[in-house]
Amino acid sequence: MENKSFNSIDILHQKQKSFFATQITLSTAFRVKQLNALRKEINKREKDIFKALKKDLGKSNFESMTSETVLVEKEIRNMVKMLPLWNRPHRVKSSLINFPSKDYILPEPYGNTLIISPWNYPFQLAITPLVGAIAAGNTAVLKPSEFAPYTGSVIKEIIEKVFDPAHVAVVEGDAATATSLLQKRWDFIMFTGSTPIGKIIAKAAAQHLTPTTLELGGKSPCIVDETAPLGITAKRVVWGKFLNCGQTCIAPDYLLVHENIKERLTQELIKQIEKAFGESQQNSEDYGRIAHQNHFNKLKNSLKNQKIIYGGQMEEKDLFFGPTLVENPKPESELMQEEIFGPILPIISYKAESEIHDLLEKRERPLAFYVFSKRKKFIHKLFNRYSFGAGVANDSIIQFANDKLPFGGVGHSGMGAYHGKYSFKNFSHEKPIIKRSFWFDIPGRYAPYPKSLSLLKFLLKHL
Ligand code: NAD
Repeated sequence: MENKSFNSIDILHQKQKSFFATQITLSTAFRVKQLNALRKEINKREKDIFKALKKDLGKSNFESMTSETVLVEKEIRNMVKMLPLWNRPHRVKSSLINFPSKDYILPEPYGNTLIISPWNYPFQLAITPLVGAIAAGNTAVLKPSEFAPYTGSVIKEIIEKVFDPAHVAVVEGDAATATSLLQKRWDFIMFTGSTPIGKIIAKAAAQHLTPTTLELGGKSPCIVDETAPLGITAKRVVWGKFLNCGQTCIAPDYLLVHENIKERLTQELIKQIEKAFGESQQNSEDYGRIAHQNHFNKLKNSLKNQKIIYGGQMEEKDLFFGPTLVENPKPESELMQEEIFGPILPIISYKAESEIHDLLEKRERPLAFYVFSKRKKFIHKLFNRYSFGAGVANDSIIQFANDKLPFGGVGHSGMGAYHGKYSFKNFSHEKPIIKRSFWFDIPGRYAPYPKSLSLLKFLLKHL
């Protein structure tokens, strides 16, 4: 890993500015060619990507494929297929006030973009935004996370093989490098990471009024009422919570469970954990590791004074942190104040529905919101009442897999969204254009204005 000096960043930034000014990236054919080349190189390096993910996060090849490389491959294929359509001017209905005119929206790239990514899905969360940036015709500087250094290096190698650095470049480094990058003037910034760092990004972007997409985190609740079938509910919660050792931005952060089923659901959760990873999860090929020591310590500390009802095993030198269930943590405890982002699942019981609202109403808007129930009215009531990035009934984290849905947060869980068409839109400015004809103007448009306003008022209201 290297920390780039401001000087080398300055040179790179200048080069990318000059490259964008050539207008090469305006061509759809150029973008498609680059995206195809990227896809090919990723396929060629898939084994190296898996190895890097194993070293960084202990990810199994299955998880690396399903939650990293396949999603990227799908995103590129879709982008290549749809780009000729999305990158065309789109006609909209003209206003009769401007009659006669042709009105349309012309997508244009922002220009020079900066992408900063996190360590939890270090390949996918770096490359998927990049695909959007390239597809929309931008240049890009990508800074992967310093906490997934092996994956960061493979990403750098892939990008250097495919792209002219004046078009796309990877700058490895930590917060200091990110700070240097943020001192430059970008035309668009996309950041994926924590809410506190998101605020730093927003502040830096504000210096230049740079538009920003912030993909942040938060505490995503998972509500289970007494009508939910326990076996399948537990299976889906365990899968979404313990995938990548709980280090998933949209993982259920805590469970809110009706007290009538709490005991039985807890037993089912334990059964499903052991079915997935065995009784000794440290030996499971499919159970990941905590990304770095600081995060391990934070998770360990968050368990102080908590009632652990399952798990709690950990081994520091291996960064192993077993699946852990905690009963009724206090709302003011760290576990319930900060995003957990690890394999700890608090289980909070409620008796009356009002207790759910008492807890949720005091909280920031989460990235995801899960409800397990057979009562349609209950589900819809919750989905309508609360604001969140995405909602799922009777499953967890699957919203990620549908690129027809925008992926993003709201409030403290972020702003802006991407995936599929939303990625193209995210990295494009939608430029409205009106082409007028010379032959007609509505009467009374120019001074001296007519004294009677009634005809004009009628026209303006109805045309
Ligand atoms: P982080 O905010 O610590 O780091 C993210 C990136 O920001 C890294 O590249 C890091 O080097 C950089 N960074 C760190 N300090 C910085 C600073 N002072 N100035 C500028 N950049 C700085 O996040 P993380 O620990 O890598 O990831 C975990 C967080 O990311 C969780 O909160 C999780 O919910 C969130 N996340 C969100 C999504 C999403 O799509 N919404 C996806 C994955 C992770």
